[in-house]
Amino acid sequence: MATTTHRVFNFSAGPAVLPVTVLEEAQRDLVALPGVGMSVLEISHRSKTFEGILARTEQDLRTLGGVPANYQVLFLQGGASMQFSMVPLNLLTSGSTADYIVTGGWSQKAVKEAQRVGAVHIAGSTESENFSRIPRQDELKLTTGAAYVHFTTNNTLFGTEWAHEPSVGDLPLVADTSSDMFSRSIKVSKYGLIYAGAQKNLGPSGVTLVIIRQDLLARSSKSLHTMLNYAVHAENGSMYNTPPCFGIYLMGLVMKWALAQGGLEAIGRINERKASKLYAEIDRSGFYRGTAEKNSRSRMNITFRLPSEELENRFVKESTAAGLDGLKGHRSVGGMRASIYNAFPEEGVDALVSFMQEFESKNG
Ligand SMILES: *Cc1c(COP(=O)(O)O)cnc(C)c1O
Repeated sequence: MATTTHRVFNFSAGPAVLPVTVLEEAQRDLVALPGVGMSVLEISHRSKTFEGILARTEQDLRTLGGVPANYQVLFLQGGASMQFSMVPLNLLTSGSTADYIVTGGWSQKAVKEAQRVGAVHIAGSTESENFSRIPRQDELKLTTGAAYVHFTTNNTLFGTEWAHEPSVGDLPLVADTSSDMFSRSIKVSKYGLIYAGAQKNLGPSGVTLVIIRQDLLARSSKSLHTMLNYAVHAENGSMYNTPPCFGIYLMGLVMKWALAQGGLEAIGRINERKASKLYAEIDRSGFYRGTAEKNSRSRMNITFRLPSEELENRFVKESTAAGLDGLKGHRSVGGMRASIYNAFPEEGVDALVSFMQEFESKNG
């Protein structure tokens, strides 16, 4: 069934654009799943049907991400923000220190929660440069024997992204990958724990993906509140209580879509090409100015400014009217932000480039 509703190009930072084919399949099957006669919104999470959906979603996710067998995949709730608490509650054992690399507002929020739990060491920060870049390896000061090292792979507000993981030796690496999860190949074995709110690259809001190395589950204390305990969620296959059924179902459709794109290498190439087109336009004439340092630029959130705030306001208004929605930047950076996650169509990037050229020729 083709959707007849007109869709604009949606540059929202999150919740964000989803593949049209995914929305169409969900729409087609919303009232009654084929062969089931009930909506996915109505069935028991203990039913065979839902168990099948959960198992298939996990299997496709493992295939897509090459998740090794010694990692557990958990589907939780509370968003990435709940992980800011769960990570230290489970992994920051008493007497140890957790290292945090601070590259933006989300890293800062993660630090704030960890500090409620135990000792936190800031192993690196680019705050004094308004987070316009990712720290270099030689700037990082890691704690010997740290409980883990936390970093944010992509800084959604500031438009910066790690080109590759920081080197942390044998320390467990913990990553908030909310805004670039599965946007390119990922070597899961480099990580102790990966988490992501789904609503940028993986599905709708309401489900949070956690991938945790099995041995780290032993750190979860029995005295923790049940719902905050990774080991409990792992033992119960993400079904200790009612999981976010619809979110998991939709994430399953997105995983299937991502596999059909050719997997993460193919997706990575497409994302690289989409981002390059926008950065080329930003760099072309000097009218637009990228806010992130070139070697720290994000492929997901492209942030740029115009010569004046007045022009920026006009740009927002006129681009919205032209069917390019959600380009206003975050207030901590100002200017524009084009969020172009996996499902964002390349035609939308081309449309923005054309709009930028026209806008400059009228106002430059
Ligand atoms: C959006 C975002 C979050 C917050 O996610 P919630 O699911 O709303 O809690 C955290 N970290 C990063 C990097 C994000 O982009």
